[in-house]
Amino acid sequence: MCVKYDTFYFKDAKSFLIDQSEEEILKFIELYKSEASAWDISSQYYPIFINSSIYSHIPYQCTTSKCEYCNAYIFKKIPRKNNRKMELFYCINCNHTNDKNCKCSRCVEKRNQDVLLNKLAFIEKWNKYYEQNYSGSYDINSLSVLDLVYLQLIIRLYAVNDEYLSFYKKSKLEKNVYPSGNLNIEGDLKEKILAFIARKIIIPVKNIKPNTETFEDFKKGLETMNFELTDWNLNIRIPDANEISSLKNLSFYLNQKKYTSLECDFLWKEVYDYLIKSYIKSLSEMYLDDKIFDFTIDLFIDDLRDDFSISKTLNICYYSINSTHFNMNKYKYSDPKKINTHFRNRVVEAIEKNKNQIHLMKDFNLPSILKPLLIHQFILGEVLKIKEEITYSKLNFKDSF
Ligand SMILES: [Zn+2]
Ligand SMILES: [Zn+2]
Repeated sequence: MCVKYDTFYFKDAKSFLIDQSEEEILKFIELYKSEASAWDISSQYYPIFINSSIYSHIPYQCTTSKCEYCNAYIFKKIPRKNNRKMELFYCINCNHTNDKNCKCSRCVEKRNQDVLLNKLAFIEKWNKYYEQNYSGSYDINSLSVLDLVYLQLIIRLYAVNDEYLSFYKKSKLEKNVYPSGNLNIEGDLKEKILAFIARKIIIPVKNIKPNTETFEDFKKGLETMNFELTDWNLNIRIPDANEISSLKNLSFYLNQKKYTSLECDFLWKEVYDYLIKSYIKSLSEMYLDDKIFDFTIDLFIDDLRDDFSISKTLNICYYSINSTHFNMNKYKYSDPKKINTHFRNRVVEAIEKNKNQIHLMKDFNLPSILKPLLIHQFILGEVLKIKEEITYSKLNFKDSF
């Protein structure tokens, strides 16, 4: 602490004024306050200011005002020149400076208390909100088989230490949890997660850490779905449990779940229909002016799904589209009805022709732009346990039931 003549406080202990007389110090302060430019002052006191600003040498001066905390007289420093900053303020007794980030013990204590009060208020509001919104839980058996598969995949991808779900933790996302999968929350998976959140199947963990976000921001976050906001839990209980089950128990339950053959048929339909329809749609866009209707596909897809693998179905669809395209050009028509009828007839013929000799048909690959969605890869590989990628076929899993 450097106080001179009971009236000057030097924050900078290297100030050249420390060793000057009271008179010299006052003279210098007047000079600084005067019209004299920094250049004038510097040249008068050369070489003192070569490595330091003039202002840093000026001391605080004792005033007659008293510190609000300790009642000691406070010291003030004249404002910096050409600067809108207020005059500086300092209590040599308790270190209070009166500015926003004052480090004196009273100010620090006051700020901590404010933070604590905000935190408590936040927690109270949050608990109320939580109570109102997330009190009921789902019995796992009330969810559809597709929901369960999605949840199994979501746990696989986003569970952290079997404790909670996190949709943003980089380390988790970067880990190659599922081969060839797109690990950003994109497309169907993101939509599904949002839908689960809307249905309150995926819910925020109760003990969230209130941080700089205010409660209002948090609510906004829930509506606009800011994945970074919190960690998440599943609001589900396994049979015989009264309260929601831990992620660990749910994960165990789902991983050992045996799907019935009916459920497998349903899942197979989910994947098969999606892939075949996307394939037909993409070819139809290219060759048939995008005129194939969904319901045309629905008329024959049931007859293909049980017996033809995906790769053989692609074969049938490809040739049928080709034939329709050729026919359209040859007889110069563009009537969607005619196009759909021709296409459907070709498919039905191909089914008839090939159903007893499927093994002779050539396998077609899915075009690379039509990679199965992450959930479909999961259903094929993990639930139906079909290993041969190109020839995904119901026959591959049928026998195990
Ligand atoms: Zn004080
Ligand atoms: Zn203070």
